[in-house]
Amino acid sequence: MDALRNEGMRYTKQRQIVWDEICRSKDHRDAEEIYFNINKTGRNVSRATIYRTIDVLVKNNLVRQLELGDGRKRFENKLDSTHHDHIVCLSCGDIQEFYDDLIEAQQDKIAKKYNFKIVRHIHQLFGVCKNCK
Ligand SMILES: [Zn+2]
Ligand SMILES: [Zn+2]
Repeated sequence: MDALRNEGMRYTKQRQIVWDEICRSKDHRDAEEIYFNINKTGRNVSRATIYRTIDVLVKNNLVRQLELGDGRKRFENKLDSTHHDHIVCLSCGDIQEFYDDLIEAQQDKIAKKYNFKIVRHIHQLFGVCKNCK
């Protein structure tokens, strides 16, 4: 709720609406879906404002932007979610989250071997989910 103010962002009602909408769902949605969900409930925020606000939220590390290679950027709440990776169904687009200690540890091991300091990593598995198989 106070996230916007805590981050020292200029507070506007529209920003609060966009942030609330992103926090409301655990889904990984694109800006169009977020726009649609805000406006279907009668809260009138223009498409341009929503796109711009999402951009600001990403830059302020409140929202994580996902690139899945299909040209559609998806967004999720970053503030309240710990690190996780994604499994993506190429058929229905379903996105599931996973976290695996071994994978995380293995990445650190590899980085150490190459004398490399990891800043961040993106790990995505693409395939077909159990409903689409
Ligand atoms: Zn599927
Ligand atoms: Zn996620």
